[in-house]
Amino acid sequence: MRILVMSDIHANYTALEAVLKDAGQVDETWCLGDLVGYGPDPNAVVEEVREIKNLTCLMGNHDVGVVGRMSLETFNGDAKRSLLYHEQVLSASNMDFIKSLPSKPKVRSEATIVHGSPRDPLWEYILNSTTASLNFDHFGTDWCFVGHTHIQCSFTLKSNSDWVTAEYAKPDAALSLHPKLILNPGSVGQPRDRDPRAAYAIYDTAARTWTPKRVAYNIAEVQERIRAAGLPEKHAVRIGEGW
Ligand code: ZN
Repeated sequence: MRILVMSDIHANYTALEAVLKDAGQVDETWCLGDLVGYGPDPNAVVEEVREIKNLTCLMGNHDVGVVGRMSLETFNGDAKRSLLYHEQVLSASNMDFIKSLPSKPKVRSEATIVHGSPRDPLWEYILNSTTASLNFDHFGTDWCFVGHTHIQCSFTLKSNSDWVTAEYAKPDAALSLHPKLILNPGSVGQPRDRDPRAAYAIYDTAARTWTPKRVAYNIAEVQERIRAAGLPEKHAVRIGEGW
């Protein structure tokens, strides 16, 4: 099976469209959460995601915030402003869809999928090998796919040791899967690794490979919509620079 793995779309419809087109035909799509937050297009993104066939979609921390299951005070000021806007504009049926999403890790054959980390599904950021090493004992599958940091990367637990290495992804270079790995497809709608192109990954279950991908999209038109909606200027600037 060829599986599209994506995360952190963050209400960026133009980036989502570019990813779906670039990924082409896939057997399944796994989305690791944060459909909303930051961007200008919460309804368009949720509607597009709802249309995806063979979808497994998790809830991210911004999704939990927008449906009122977590105080928006836990978010920083600029993130909170977007969530308040999304709370107002999201249609009732799109809100219901978000509410229906699971927030706990899910196991799919050889992979565990989760938004933040296996030991703290909504909030922990796996940004370095130290945090990664504390998480390898918290999933029973050979590999775990995480989002939340918006950084396309991989963490490898060396066999017969507790040594963990971290690597930034090389787009289009297929990684051979072996126990035990934590892999992050990066963010569709707000990459933070200084590469502003939309990020995702293709997981091939037969070849046992993970291929990180990047695709350019029309960032200027999303920035225009951010400004037209009166959302923080910071959100427009950062998608242009990838931080
Ligand atoms: Zn996010």
